[in-house]
Amino acid sequence: MFVYFSIILLELIQYFMLEIRNVVKKYEGQNSPAVNNVSFSVKEGTFFTLTGESGSGKSTLLRIIKGLEDIDSGEVLFNGTLVKGPSKKLIAGEEGIELAHQDYNLFPRHTVYENIQYVIRRLSNEDQEKKINELLDVFHLQEFRDKIPSTLSGGQQQRVAIAKALAISPRVLLLDEPFSNLDMILRNEIKTELADYLRQTKASVIFVTHESADALSLSDQIAVMKDGKIIQQGTPETIYTKPATPYVATYFGNANIVKVKNLEKLSITSTNEVATESLVCIRYEDIEITENGTAMLFAKVIRKDYFGSCFRLEVRLDKLRLWLYSNATSIKRGDLIPLKINTEKIHLFTSN
Ligand code: ADP
Ligand code: MG
Repeated sequence: MFVYFSIILLELIQYFMLEIRNVVKKYEGQNSPAVNNVSFSVKEGTFFTLTGESGSGKSTLLRIIKGLEDIDSGEVLFNGTLVKGPSKKLIAGEEGIELAHQDYNLFPRHTVYENIQYVIRRLSNEDQEKKINELLDVFHLQEFRDKIPSTLSGGQQQRVAIAKALAISPRVLLLDEPFSNLDMILRNEIKTELADYLRQTKASVIFVTHESADALSLSDQIAVMKDGKIIQQGTPETIYTKPATPYVATYFGNANIVKVKNLEKLSITSTNEVATESLVCIRYEDIEITENGTAMLFAKVIRKDYFGSCFRLEVRLDKLRLWLYSNATSIKRGDLIPLKINTEKIHLFTSN
């Protein structure tokens, strides 16, 4: 019996690398908590993203997980063991959980190579060399290996900081806006390489970003934060196609939020009994311009914005305004265009 329970317990512990339970943290002088009753768990090897607008409590939550902030209530478990806050520990911070700092923390007088080497100085020379080269490749840093931090740009220093955090092969890696200082091209290259590398190492990652596109493209799980709370957690697909609230829908862009009573104007009838004031989400990409002959709906173009790969149109049907994407260069403001709405993709919010 005991053995049986131990095995189950062991499986549970391996299952959830991190458990955050009802964590509350209020800074002195704050009216409402920076982190307000947050709970979630992260399985081993998961790429977990915390996203939300600036000030929503993401960085505070990361510091709590690393054991750098005391909390008012709740608990954080790492591998089944309680993470202690700084007031309960001689040296603050949980070992085995690495936080790549927003403010880099590099040794100023040492080269990029030496900075990374320091954290793995106990490995054999051969292993050090291998690991450092791997990381310099992932972060496109080979050409800077012999440079000292002050001669590097912010983005380059940021990459060294992440490489350093990764060098010790942490079980849990916390990344706070790791791409914030990288320009677009490098950012796109590095983020996919980093995600692939992390999957290979099987590290559990908590990735903080306010870029919703990064959250959607990189994560296994996303938690959306607002005012210190997690307002929705799920896979990227669930969050995008079944957003819990209009806020979540618009956070990930391109959402028309429409009252159920206005769906009639779009020739959409609901078979279910739904309150007329309830809201639905119609993504821009689920509205198409259709063939003239088959159309039931006509809308007037009131705005046309160039988006590079397409145009974004604002159209009006009676008083209802909608946004959609289009490739048609010939469409002009004032045109009446035939529309078709992909009704299967319309999402009814359960709360506003
Ligand atoms: P995010 O990383 O999502 O931008 P933060 O966790 O940095 O959010 O901040 C959450 C809230 O807590 C904000 O209102 C911020 O002003 C406040 N805050 C963060 N750090 C401190 C601090 N050291 N002292 C007081 N208030 C803080
Ligand atoms: Mg932050």
